[in-house]
Amino acid sequence: MKITRIRTGSIAVALRKPFKTALRVKDCVESNIIAIETDTGATGYGEAPPTGVITGDTNLSIVGAIQDHIAPAIMGMEIEDFEKVTAKVQRAVIHNSSAKAAVDMALWDLYGQLCGLPVYKLLGAARRQLETDITISVNAPDEMAEDAKTAVSRGFDTLKLKVGVDPALDIARLSAVRDAVGSGVRIRIDANQAWRPREAVRILNGMQEKGLDIELVEQPVIAHDLEGLRYVRENSDVPVLADESIFSPADALKILEMGAADMLNIKLMKCGGITPALQIAAMAEVAGVECMMGCMLETKVAVNAAVHVACARQVVTRIDLDGPVLTREDPVLGGAVFEEKLITLPDLPGLGITGFEPNRVNYR
Ligand code: MG
Repeated sequence: MKITRIRTGSIAVALRKPFKTALRVKDCVESNIIAIETDTGATGYGEAPPTGVITGDTNLSIVGAIQDHIAPAIMGMEIEDFEKVTAKVQRAVIHNSSAKAAVDMALWDLYGQLCGLPVYKLLGAARRQLETDITISVNAPDEMAEDAKTAVSRGFDTLKLKVGVDPALDIARLSAVRDAVGSGVRIRIDANQAWRPREAVRILNGMQEKGLDIELVEQPVIAHDLEGLRYVRENSDVPVLADESIFSPADALKILEMGAADMLNIKLMKCGGITPALQIAAMAEVAGVECMMGCMLETKVAVNAAVHVACARQVVTRIDLDGPVLTREDPVLGGAVFEEKLITLPDLPGLGITGFEPNRVNYR
């Protein structure tokens, strides 16, 4: 199975509600699709959204990295030489983790098709169904309590809340949500680097003293402050999950060596694809550290690839893959089935994406 052509294109998928964070507001998912064609007629699909505020990757940088560096490095190679091909992708250009992720997942798609097996089965087949959490958007406490109740009535039993702008308001929001849903629902929070280490410990311990029962806190301190991350881990009652602090497998190694976090958040767009994600998962497994699988604002092509990794490895114990639930439509054919909190993989070879609705991908 020889690589004969690598195409890049763009796609836009409307969201149900505008996606608001401290950094941006989006009303649709805009992303880059790649299609790797082979001499057997098999096509592998990948995706890279331009999440500039997190990864530094833009539409132009993603397309440029693929067209100028990655595609020339692997063109004409055989999928049978899988290890060599995936290594070339990682070495073709530095940084550009989203572009690498798109190509790497398309190659795994082809490798699975070559072997006649779904990728999650090739990689371990721990399970074929996951349960994801759901993010409750930041609003007034009453509105968040209503949104939380609605989510629970839809069957979600793990809620994720963004915190970090105003500690007093955070406590009011969390209290409103906890009161609304009762004690049987898990609440995890993401501070997105908002706090200083001592401040984080004070806020987190205050939350637990109020009985908010926080399951875990994502990235309480600034990304590069691993000592600070470890300080929070050692001095608060809330388990610490590293997100912005861990992009690459080398980052994971450092955090694990330092004992800086209780858990690692793996995202394909941060680490550069399925191949590096597996390296992180393997290290975490050896260190006895559990992982979360997360995603950016992505269409089902990339989220589906993350589902395969999460289904493959038992060390992935927490799932934050609510992306496709947020979109109003799904022009991506095949792949994982998303029904509220349940995500189920079909038994199709490769990653199982079979194509797109007509005229939805604008190939260059
Ligand atoms: Mg996060």
